[in-house]
Amino acid sequence: MHRRAGGDDAVLLQTDDLTRSFGGIRAVDHLAMTIARGELRCLIGPNGAGKSTFFSLLTGLHKPDAGRVLFKGEDITYLPPFLRVRRGLSLKFQNVRIYRELTVRQHLLVAGTASRDVEGQNGHVGWALHSLGLDHELERLARELPHSSQQWLEICLALATGPDLLLLDEPTAGMTPEETALTAEFVIRLNAQGMTVIVVEHDMAFVRHIARRITVMHYGRVFAEGTLAEIESNQDVRRIYLGEQ
Ligand code: ADP
Ligand code: MG
Repeated sequence: MHRRAGGDDAVLLQTDDLTRSFGGIRAVDHLAMTIARGELRCLIGPNGAGKSTFFSLLTGLHKPDAGRVLFKGEDITYLPPFLRVRRGLSLKFQNVRIYRELTVRQHLLVAGTASRDVEGQNGHVGWALHSLGLDHELERLARELPHSSQQWLEICLALATGPDLLLLDEPTAGMTPEETALTAEFVIRLNAQGMTVIVVEHDMAFVRHIARRITVMHYGRVFAEGTLAEIESNQDVRRIYLGEQ
């Protein structure tokens, strides 16, 4: 089924009624979300809220039980992951997934083979490597890099496929406050260059630094959505997420 989303070019991603269960657990439950082109959206929520599963449904690593995913107005709900990458979706996984015995340069070569537009991507990737301090580490083995640089390498790899929508799942996990701030600044500048980004993050310092529209997930659903000020003053959000009584 290929239905256009009303031909609305301002909308890059839209999910309707997206649902996925594992056994008795409804990890994602009738989730409706709309992401505009050029947006930088933060997705937060307690552990087990379904954030990573939502990303898996977007990228095709899992198939939904119901609902659909529209990307650039086209129904990609059942498209295999590699075809979604070709259409411009890219994911940095929650857990670092790199090849320990490959150098930074070799990683980029591998990722580049999935690219739709080798010329077009180099700007973003070259800039990203430089911004994240990896341009001087091209010949180093991934396993020799500090944890933060491994996370950053993964972001560069996600960019190497030339995405229009970048999904980042907890990109600052295990980072120091300084590294977290650098990552937030990087994401803001990447977005300023036109990249649409959805970032899942636990670290409220990161979310405050980004300070854009926030979606709060809880039990697989959208629990709240709004500005940083709206979310931080929402008593229900504070109760479920920020751990207040
Ligand atoms: P979050 O990323 O918000 O922490 P997840 O999407 O990882 O949440 O998980 C949502 C729920 O789905 C959790 O209860 C988790 O245990 C369950 N879940 C996620 N992936 C699987 C899986 N592959 N098999 C079984 N249960 C899963
Ligand atoms: Mg997760």
